[in-house]
Amino acid sequence: MPKAQALRSESFSLDARALRCTMCSMRSDLMEILVCPLCKAELSLAVDQEDGDEILAGTLTCTGCGQTFPIEDGIPNLLPPDLRDE
Ligand SMILES: [Zn+2]
Repeated sequence: MPKAQALRSESFSLDARALRCTMCSMRSDLMEILVCPLCKAELSLAVDQEDGDEILAGTLTCTGCGQTFPIEDGIPNLLPPDLRDE
């Protein structure tokens, strides 16, 4: 299908992560991998602070159980609350 070929060459010439998209920088990679450690549902992201395409601070919220996980210094903390050492 010509359309699929066009898409493929596009993704070849453009690094998706280089595209500055406030909704898809870290999550385009990580959000596909990250799921709620408690119930394995998808996580939704709220960004508090970002630098370029890096998310420095924000909150991941589980779409299943509603648990929230902080992102601090660009690192998502996916430990369940009772395992966090704060
Ligand atoms: Zn969950």
